[in-house]
Amino acid sequence: MWDHEADVVVVGFGGAGATAAISAAAAGAKVIVLEKNAEGGGNTRFSGGTIRTFLDMDKAADFIEALCDGTTERDVVETFVHESSKNPEWIQQMGGEIVPHQAKTRDTRRYPHSLTLAAFPSVLGAEGIGPRVRVKGGGEFAGIDLWGVLLRNVVANANIRILYAAPASRLIVDTRDEVTGVAAVSGDHEITVSAKRGVILTCGGFEYEQTMHRNYLGQSFYGLCNPGNTGDGIVMAAEIGADLWHMNGSAATFGYKYPEFPFAIRHSMPSAGFIYVDQAGTRFMDETGTDMHLMWAPAGHIDVLTLKRPRSPSYVIFDEDTRLRGAVSAIGHGKVSDVYQWSKDNSAEIKKGWIKSAGNIADLALQINMQPDRLQASVAKYNMDCVGGYDPEMGREPHTLIPLGRPPYYAMDIWPVLFNTQGGPKRNAKAQVINVRGKPIKRLYSAGELGSLWHKNYPGAGNVSEALAFGRIAGKNAASELPLTD
Ligand SMILES: Cc1cc2nc3c(=O)[nH]c(=O)nc-3n(C[C@H](O)[C@H](O)[C@H](O)COP(=O)(O)OP(=O)(O)OC[C@H]3O[C@@H](n4cnc5c(N)ncnc54)[C@H](O)[C@@H]3O)c2cc1C
Repeated sequence: MWDHEADVVVVGFGGAGATAAISAAAAGAKVIVLEKNAEGGGNTRFSGGTIRTFLDMDKAADFIEALCDGTTERDVVETFVHESSKNPEWIQQMGGEIVPHQAKTRDTRRYPHSLTLAAFPSVLGAEGIGPRVRVKGGGEFAGIDLWGVLLRNVVANANIRILYAAPASRLIVDTRDEVTGVAAVSGDHEITVSAKRGVILTCGGFEYEQTMHRNYLGQSFYGLCNPGNTGDGIVMAAEIGADLWHMNGSAATFGYKYPEFPFAIRHSMPSAGFIYVDQAGTRFMDETGTDMHLMWAPAGHIDVLTLKRPRSPSYVIFDEDTRLRGAVSAIGHGKVSDVYQWSKDNSAEIKKGWIKSAGNIADLALQINMQPDRLQASVAKYNMDCVGGYDPEMGREPHTLIPLGRPPYYAMDIWPVLFNTQGGPKRNAKAQVINVRGKPIKRLYSAGELGSLWHKNYPGAGNVSEALAFGRIAGKNAASELPLTD
């Protein structure tokens, strides 16, 4: 009947899947991991890899509950805080070394909370949130180092087998409504894998499914990371009656998109000497004071008369001093780091035409099809505000008011791009997937960004923490199910 047999089948080999597999195997289960791509890592491998710590768990739970805006039950939040507080110790047990996350000195954003580097410092309980940590290693961004630790532990475990290039296509359910296995595609045929104890869905979000973006997030995005994340787990779980939650939640920033690559490149400025303008040449936000995960909000603006989206794309405008301070991209962050190295002085990207340049603002405007007088007026007003040290329109902090002085001037299109989506099948504190009637679907678990506990207000460093915490819970609980009898 079955092509392969295991106690626990894990769908998706990213951070949550690797952790779930390690945890299930530690509880004595034989595990098969199905991965869609030819290699594992998913979003986790190319991420910042930062992990949240807590200073006070009760206050942290109050904070997270408030951010989730009534959509995530208190026991799920508390379980997250308690279990994820063990992440650093668990990683050390796995052979990784935990070190503080150092914010980049080149980073010009005004973090609202300098200790925690978390958004929403005024929300009740924010003082319970601790600093970020990361796995020590050679990566400028720590996802690669975290993935190294997870991969080593999975590969060394004789009870875990990985089937690569085997995208799961559906869940197999018996007549008692118990999930008994998974069907997947291997080459040009279907294979079936039996799960005697349970199935764990860890196959990520829908960063590369634009129809879902429009339906659930209300706007289209480009993806920054793993093109394998196309919402397959949502389809598979919904097909057997799972409830969905947080489908309108995402963490999104600004990025560049060029036809050379299927994924976007992260935008990041080396100095505060820049502004954003919309397609009419008008500034629209505090460029340095808005948390990077929340750019979906300003970028999603719709003109209610024309139904056009004047901030998608928007434009970043900067001068020669800023250009010479460093790359205008977060080198090493995201999938692009596999295939492209941004030049340190941006000269290669100017030559490619990715960065438009001109000797004066009026000529620059013409290059991006903008009315010259509108862009000139915005830059002149911003420069005046810099002299006065006060930004009455957007409220930028005085120390970030650096004028656009020395020509040439530069412009680039910036688009809303996804770190990750949050939606998917709803889960409870035991990591069980819940059906539309509020009951657990028998023997079905989930972890990671697929059906994350986070909603729209994402404070940073929460998704990797969750992937590890709920990966462990799901692995342990699936492995402890009584085995199905034939
Ligand atoms: C640039 C960037 C930086 C980030 N930085 C941070 C950070 O610093 N801290 C933080 O907390 N979060 C961060 N995030 C978010 C975080 O990385 C992810 O939310 C988290 O790693 C998700 O882990 P996961 O295991 O759920 O999914 P993934 O790691 O994406 O793994 C999912 C896996 O499932 C596979 N898959 C998909 N469909 C199928 C299928 N049908 N069958 C089998 N396999 C399938 C995919 O190919 C993939 O390998 C960042 C994200 C990005 C893109």
